[in-house]
Amino acid sequence: LPPIDGDFYNLSLNLTEKQREVQMKVRNFMEDEVQPIANDYWNRAEFPHDLIPKFAKLNIAGVAYQGYGCPGMDFVTEGIIAEEIARVDVSISTFFGVHSGLAMGSIYLCGSEEQKKEWLPQMARMEKIGAFGLTEPEVGSGIAGGMETTCRKDGDYWVLNGQKKWIGNATFADVTIIWARDEDSNQVKGFLVRKENPGFHAEKMQDKMALRIVQNAIITLTNCAVPESDRLQEANSFKDTAKVLRMTRAGVAWQAVGCARGAYENALKYTKKREQFGRPIASFQLVQNHLVEMISNLTSIQTLCFRLSEMQDQGILKDEHASLAKVICSMRTRDIVSRAREVMGGNGILLEHNVARFVADAEAIYSYEGTKEINTLIVGRAITGYSAFVS
Ligand code: FAD
Repeated sequence: LPPIDGDFYNLSLNLTEKQREVQMKVRNFMEDEVQPIANDYWNRAEFPHDLIPKFAKLNIAGVAYQGYGCPGMDFVTEGIIAEEIARVDVSISTFFGVHSGLAMGSIYLCGSEEQKKEWLPQMARMEKIGAFGLTEPEVGSGIAGGMETTCRKDGDYWVLNGQKKWIGNATFADVTIIWARDEDSNQVKGFLVRKENPGFHAEKMQDKMALRIVQNAIITLTNCAVPESDRLQEANSFKDTAKVLRMTRAGVAWQAVGCARGAYENALKYTKKREQFGRPIASFQLVQNHLVEMISNLTSIQTLCFRLSEMQDQGILKDEHASLAKVICSMRTRDIVSRAREVMGGNGILLEHNVARFVADAEAIYSYEGTKEINTLIVGRAITGYSAFVS
């Protein structure tokens, strides 16, 4: 039988020796350290804190950032890392994406020299963990124009008030990037809010049906005083927030690929073992049709993501490129994981068979970092010149 592998077009052959080395290092770590515990932690909706020091040894946080103790690798490597982590568990890849992409990325793109020097080296070593607070209880997709959290300058401090919802890692993160609208200029600004700040309170969200290992929080900011030195000095409007999202949306597209690949590989393995009517179910034409639909979709989103990361490395990636990839990858992934579950019959809904988790987690990928509709409108605006967003 051919090997069980979701890299049908041998994209790994396109990788440099160094990229391949990182890919295998992350794969081995995920299979040895995360695979055995993922279902249990997911079921209990808890985060495996013991994993962080082991994760840190991989030396991959802030993958593609140059300097400040970061690995200084390329965006293709960053994409492959996201795929490898999500291939085993999407929650862990979200934990990592929030820390390394959204939080470190905000500091890397919008921080002053001093802020980068203070935060990035310790975040690259994962001694300090980050979170990213943009979405609010009443404002999600319309956050660019409708943000309700405010900031007001008061001497050398800024006073923040409002609430944020869905903020991953925020129950234990050392620093959360909080985006707030300036009461004077009406522009969005970013702040490094430390967990010990008395005006900052993070409450764990309960009863999620997806990404249960990720600790999402509702944050309440009550006259939260942040010194001017902790305001992200290069974040002057929502356009700067959008720069961070452009970079991380590419990572979410890769995360979708990993989620799809994990489900496909586990389902394929199962269909070769499971027998009905005296034969492996993989030998039935209708089951093969599902498997081929899955590998077709997986191969197309994988190849698309490779080009996406190359564009990032070439410095030509625009918002619409990242949005298109996020839309298509999360849609195809939803189809792939659902077929993976289907070919496994009843066992497809049991956690122990390692597909059910991907089915649930694909729903979160579909909606976060811009829903399908919002990313579609970003692409629509780029190709027509007309903005269909309604304010
Ligand atoms: P809404 O904006 O209320 O949208 C509801 C529906 O209306 C969607 O289908 C949407 O597409 C549609 N819609 C809205 N406007 C339009 C329009 N103009 N045209 C057509 N359709 C429209 N946020 C953070 O800041 N930090 C995090 O760490 C974070 N982590 C998350 C983790 C998880 C598991 C989840 C589920 C979300 C997370 N988010 C986070 C929030 C996420 O980014 C939002 O859920 C997302 O932006 C959508 O916002 P919403 O949920 O409020 O939906």
